Amino acid sequence: MRKIMAREIPCPTCRQKGAWFDTPYGPFCSERCKMVDLGRWLGEEYRITSPLTVEDLKELSEGVEDEEP
Ligand SMILES: [Zn+2]
Repeated sequence: MRKIMAREIPCPTCRQKGAWFDTPYGPFCSERCKMVDLGRWLGEEYRITSPLTVEDLKELSEGVEDEEP
């Protein structure tokens, strides 16, 4: 048996790769991304009833990058 050395995963929010599971915010890269994801769930609960499409995912990722100062 050997351990997998590369533990890099993409952050669910910004897709940036890193060893996020080793952080307090894992699997997110930062507290900000964790809160963004949480806010997404709370703010868009109605979306849960309909399956996600590729268009939805694009929309979400674009929305994240379009952050306000
Ligand atoms: Zn992130």
